[in-house]
Amino acid sequence: MSRSSAPPIFGETRLTTRRLESLAGRIDAEREGGIEVRTPITDDEICRIPDCDEADVDAAVERAREAQASWERVPVDARAETLRRFGDLVLERREQLLDLLQLETGKSRRHGVEEVLDVPLTSSYYAERGPSMLADERRGGAIPLATDARVTVDPVGVVGIIAPWNYPLTLAVTDAIPALLAGNAVVLKPDEKTPFIALALAELLEEAGLPEGVLEVVTGEGPTVGPALIDRVDYVAFTGSTETGRTVAERAGRNLIGCSLELGGKNPMIVLADADLEAAARGAVQGAFTNAGQLCLAPERIYVEESRYEDFLDAFVGTTRRLSMGLEFEYGPDVGSLIDGAQLERVESHVAEAVESGASVLSGGRHRPDVGPYCYEPTILTDVDPGSRVACEETFGPVVSVTPVADIESAIEAANDSPYGLNASVWTADRERGVQVAREIDCGTVCVNDAYTAGWAAVDAPMGGVGDSGLGRRHGPEGLRRYLEPRTIAVSRLGPLDAPPGVPASAFVRILSGLTQFRRRLMRWL
Ligand code: NAD
Repeated sequence: MSRSSAPPIFGETRLTTRRLESLAGRIDAEREGGIEVRTPITDDEICRIPDCDEADVDAAVERAREAQASWERVPVDARAETLRRFGDLVLERREQLLDLLQLETGKSRRHGVEEVLDVPLTSSYYAERGPSMLADERRGGAIPLATDARVTVDPVGVVGIIAPWNYPLTLAVTDAIPALLAGNAVVLKPDEKTPFIALALAELLEEAGLPEGVLEVVTGEGPTVGPALIDRVDYVAFTGSTETGRTVAERAGRNLIGCSLELGGKNPMIVLADADLEAAARGAVQGAFTNAGQLCLAPERIYVEESRYEDFLDAFVGTTRRLSMGLEFEYGPDVGSLIDGAQLERVESHVAEAVESGASVLSGGRHRPDVGPYCYEPTILTDVDPGSRVACEETFGPVVSVTPVADIESAIEAANDSPYGLNASVWTADRERGVQVAREIDCGTVCVNDAYTAGWAAVDAPMGGVGDSGLGRRHGPEGLRRYLEPRTIAVSRLGPLDAPPGVPASAFVRILSGLTQFRRRLMRWL
């Protein structure tokens, strides 16, 4: 691969071209050419990565399959210990990882920290709780006392993980952690815009003691590497857009392998009349503008009971206008950059179309090339046409609309008027009422008095979407079980459960009927 001189931006970091080239060198693939990776901070190329093809994917899956056979036999407590060490290493090396994360994504350092902390949170959860989820489980037998049943679990084998660019640190590994704990190997395909953070994490996993080959990384174009991977693995965990998710599901279906699909959203936030408006405004700012709005859980539609609409807007607009923008490699600025020109174009077109159809811009609404080539101001819209793209489609940028609603029922109806169902939030002084409203909202996660962090960081609870937001769940026992193949072992103490020799069929049916009734009563008592 051709060697380029480091762009000046490297001087602000702990990174060098040599370091990135050594990370790219971890990929066992053709070195010539490759794909250029650019930083959104200056739009300079920072390094190239191998453009893997089907043969490279094939070789990576083969290596993973070979390594998996031994990894599965490592005692689960030792596998858990490796993951604990990995979490500690991520915390220890956080400043270097944050430099790389910021360089690849342009996100503000304070938003990057969320990703770093998420890794030890997830690894310690599965290291502590995961082993008991893998233990044999007794289940009810067919005939009480005469037969029993137990469930044992095996790893599915090799898990393919396809990750997006928006949270490339945490989404590269937090789906891998339960898969590895369960004894699977993983082949990870990061987004082509953000491969280096994934490679740095693979390096740390190895340093933590993960044997070579148990986690392989393949880089390259999604439409080439993605399908090649799905055709070779035993399960695929995909995070990305709904459009790509459908093609992943189709391919997984053809191959008869399981898949989880963590897709897009158009997340509603409901502010009830009794809410603490200052807290709701802070929550709206955190939710809508974290990572410049490129967060799948970000609220993009806010509904406020009309008696408090103006007060909420005052608080929200005031807090938003105080946000600082910047691209420094330190904890100062609140909001960083969008990932690239395509994302900027999408954000600009959503806002322009909204304004053309009558929306007002209360804050932001401008591209800020003076801050960075792809920076866009945190933007609040009102009077948005319900049919416009900004009202219906995921913007995935720092843009949110605020709409008054007559009452709670109208708020719930508006919130549910979407094909998506990923995340929502309800803001109220009455937490119990918040929970009641949450039960009415068609989303995989609903937070009360928080925009998304309380739900996301509850690692013990499942997370995922309904409708166009996806299938399956990450986190909690559900996030581990997707990577397991359960086996039922049933033992009979009576020999074959069939009519004994010499017993007429009619008598046997009477015996079975009696046993069925006995079983029903027993199940009620137990
Ligand atoms: P994308 O679907 O374009 O890309 C995601 C990944 O899929 C990348 O690694 C890409 O290379 C790969 N890919 C592209 N084409 C492929 C194909 N034909 N087969 C297999 N893989 C392919 O997504 P994006 O637009 O880059 O990411 C942003 C989207 O991800 C947003 O919609 C966002 O809401 C969603 N997202 C969802 C979650 C969640 O947890 N639900 C989290 C983060 C992002």
